[in-house]
Amino acid sequence: MSGILTATGIRKSFGDRDVLKGVDVTLGAHEVVALIGASGSGKSTLLRCLGLLEPIDDGQIFLGDEDISDPRVDGNRVRARLGAVFQSFNLFPHLSVLDNVTLASRVVHRMPRRDAEARAAELLARVGLADKAKDHPDRLSGGQQQRVAIARAIATDPEVLLLDEITSALDPELVGEVLELVRDLASEGATILMATHEMAFARDVADRVVFLDAGTIVEQGPPSSVLRHPQEARTRAFLARFT
Ligand code: ADP
Ligand code: MG
Repeated sequence: MSGILTATGIRKSFGDRDVLKGVDVTLGAHEVVALIGASGSGKSTLLRCLGLLEPIDDGQIFLGDEDISDPRVDGNRVRARLGAVFQSFNLFPHLSVLDNVTLASRVVHRMPRRDAEARAAELLARVGLADKAKDHPDRLSGGQQQRVAIARAIATDPEVLLLDEITSALDPELVGEVLELVRDLASEGATILMATHEMAFARDVADRVVFLDAGTIVEQGPPSSVLRHPQEARTRAFLARFT
């Protein structure tokens, strides 16, 4: 299967700890894939490797037709084609919300400030935060900060969004507003790989669920199969925790 993002045989160790043991994963255009698995199974490491935020030890990663795992590749240029959002919001605390959203467009993509700000204002309206543009992140709730982080990630029209447990650090009452935004992006055709523990969300929004256990993909398929009729004992044991 050819995909917008295709990784094969990804291996990654930290010291003598083998964290990814030969992972194959593909994301088709407009596909939404939920990456599930216990804490420590390697979800974040996989996302970081795919996003070129962590060097891989073995394997290949293609973004479109380009082998982005080739060591000669300009990582900054590739990272500019991807959007990443993490569990901790990682906004720049000394910058306004508007400047957080425009920074990459201005610095990496060299967009003129006026154009970047016009686009950022649109995006902030899109995530329901038009009135917060001038505020600093610490004035915002966790859910609002995470919506800014998403606006920042999509400001450069990334080909793929890599979302790493973006609701895990939020108070329960703020989770919904962030998931709602991801749901909208998905319905508008974004290509998304999302590590999550929100099984109901994965069931409703993901096209495919990938279950990672101890650095290996144990099972994957449509949510209706993997979440409701898991074939593998390890998948069943993992899902039993959520019922
Ligand atoms: P998950 O996101 O599924 O919880 P992680 O990818 O964060 O899993 O971690 C998988 C394993 O890799 C864990 O045992 C973790 O301690 C280890 N690990 C992750 N990042 C590093 C690192 N930078 N250095 C050493 N070990 C790491
Ligand atoms: Mg993680």
